[in-house]
Amino acid sequence: MADKIQMKTPLVEMDGDEMTRILWQMIKDELILPFVDLKTEYYDLGLKHRDETRDQVTIDSAEATKKYGVAVKCATITPNVQRMSEYDLHEMWKSPNGTIRAILDGTVFRTPITVSRIHPAVRSWEKPITIARHAYGDVYKNTEIRTTEGGTAELVFTGDSGKVTRQLVQKLDGPGVLQGMHNKEASIRSFAHSCFQFALSQKQDLWFGTKDTISKIYDGAFKEIMAEVFEEYKDRFDAAGIEYFYTLIDDAVARVIRSKGGFIWACKNYDGDVMSDMVSTAFGSLAMMTSVLVSPDGIYEYEAAHGTVTRHYYRYLKGEKTSTNPVATIFAWTGALRKRGELDGIDTLVTFANKLEQACLDTIEAGIMTKDLALLADNDGSIQVVDSEEFLKAIREKVSME
Ligand code: NAP
Ligand code: MG
Repeated sequence: MADKIQMKTPLVEMDGDEMTRILWQMIKDELILPFVDLKTEYYDLGLKHRDETRDQVTIDSAEATKKYGVAVKCATITPNVQRMSEYDLHEMWKSPNGTIRAILDGTVFRTPITVSRIHPAVRSWEKPITIARHAYGDVYKNTEIRTTEGGTAELVFTGDSGKVTRQLVQKLDGPGVLQGMHNKEASIRSFAHSCFQFALSQKQDLWFGTKDTISKIYDGAFKEIMAEVFEEYKDRFDAAGIEYFYTLIDDAVARVIRSKGGFIWACKNYDGDVMSDMVSTAFGSLAMMTSVLVSPDGIYEYEAAHGTVTRHYYRYLKGEKTSTNPVATIFAWTGALRKRGELDGIDTLVTFANKLEQACLDTIEAGIMTKDLALLADNDGSIQVVDSEEFLKAIREKVSME
């Protein structure tokens, strides 16, 4: 075999939990270590070690990501009451993704991995659609009141200068419901930077829609700030032959359905929440969805969009072979390796990442796939349902062959 590919800067490696932790090691052993002289700075974000370090390891891993620029993360458990006793935790630690996002201040981009044997529910879609969800504020950080009587609802803002702005929301003639929400210019601005940078890195158009005809000030601010930030990117968009396209959210939805795909759809928080579930389901499966957090200063953290696949893990613990789909986790690795290769000017690393992704797709196209995909795919009689290990071996054969 040819010499292994050498790396310059280490990747930040964030290990995780349950079935995805098992897959993580299998992917490294079978698909990466034989080909790459892998350099990583390893952080164990498995729940046990997070608890032992009082979650400091999560913060350290995010700080390391800031330092090196590229991370790859395994799915992790977000503790709930049941996990408290299962792992005998000192505290109900917060979601690692939330902690990392807060430190890196990023936007999450989710892209389906498509194969010809699985048809999108929308017939015209030929290429994946990436959802970029603004993950701060709006209805996710709101205040709500339900009244039992009529009365006067007002919106009051007291500035740091002491200046008070007061507006009538509604004079209610009986019981009703009220909601107060906000967003921050700084957050919208960093969302805009992340979106434009990601569009450039993918060389794809960027779409954005709001309801600014109705919400002239609130949604109007999103439209305005995006347009203003775009001015900084316009020349680079022209050079890359891509465009920024703004339209009303309802028009955007209609155009998305009529489109051929192949673009990035920037969404406000709620729109992104709802639309990413619609888009991922329409493309097929959560196990085929990649996710990358991009910070406004160009730091990348790659992961799979799914969780730790607990139900499969419990079966694995009983000694059963599971047919868990490792594709999204493999693509997290290839995404991170490719980005590292691009940043460090290592062409062989970029080529390897592309080749490994192609090998995954070719394996599925050849009919060898995990159970979740077999349920969705066209079956011409050639489908062979395999367990995770067999699937990884089939992919390795294809990588080695080339
Ligand atoms: P999940 O792990 O995504 O799994 C939900 C179900 O989806 C699975 O039971 C399985 O269905 C199917 N599935 C997901 N990924 C699959 C794969 N790669 N291959 C085959 N089938 C797959 O979600 P969850 O059960 O709600 O959450 C489990 C744990 O993950 C929780 O502790 C949660 O906190 C954590 N989580 C972490 C992240 C993250 O780190 N980014 C995200 C979400 C959830 P069948 O059982 O029907 O086969
Ligand atoms: Mg949702």
